[in-house]
Amino acid sequence: MDCIFCKIAAGEIPSNVVYEDEEILCFHDLEPQAPVHVLIIPKKHFESLSSVSESPEDKELLGHLMSKVGVIAELLELENGYRLVNNCGVDGYQTVMHLHFHLLGGRRMTWPPG
Ligand code: 5GP
Ligand code: ZN
Repeated sequence: MDCIFCKIAAGEIPSNVVYEDEEILCFHDLEPQAPVHVLIIPKKHFESLSSVSESPEDKELLGHLMSKVGVIAELLELENGYRLVNNCGVDGYQTVMHLHFHLLGGRRMTWPPG
């Protein structure tokens, strides 16, 4: 499959890895929008958050990913907090069609987002 994040997950394209286990990978974004900007992806390909099903496997995987957000934030020393973002589909401004969560920190965020 011609998916850049699948290739990163498989190690075929290099990335700056922060955290990895059997199910997920966290690596630094190529164009950081904050002092800390990493992407957390399931290694399994989902086109977007809307492609996640209610199957026990998908629930386990997404629950696992969410349970690691705090662990990753701690690794990145984001003790003052952070923002976790998922852009979904055209209106969400998703540009890479492999499910990913942006973890941003190291500065005070603003609200509302653009
Ligand atoms: P989206 O707009 O889909 O929510 O976010 C895609 C993100 O992936 C962007 O922040 C972009 O900078 C990042 N990105 C795109 N291609 C690559 C890549 O090859 N390597 C890394 N590390 N990040 C990428
Ligand atoms: Zn993929």
